[in-house]
Amino acid sequence: MADGTEIDISKASSSTKAETRDRRVIEDANQQRGVLTTKTYICPKCDSDEIYAELQQTRSSDEPETRILTCSNLKCGHGWREY
Ligand SMILES: [Zn+2]
Repeated sequence: MADGTEIDISKASSSTKAETRDRRVIEDANQQRGVLTTKTYICPKCDSDEIYAELQQTRSSDEPETRILTCSNLKCGHGWREY
């Protein structure tokens, strides 16, 4: 049997999550919501700074409000949430 070629799976799988924390992509963001903001948010996809933002209140007062953000660039249409 071969030796010395074992891969530590627990280490390999834990190094790819840092980039996506606190930001979730909205899969069906096909409509723009909220008010148009400029230079407040930056689209992570096309770097536009004109973003529609809508605050979403959560039921529990313990949780921070969620911002639903939609890129105003029609060619991009990227939607995501920030907490
Ligand atoms: Zn965009």
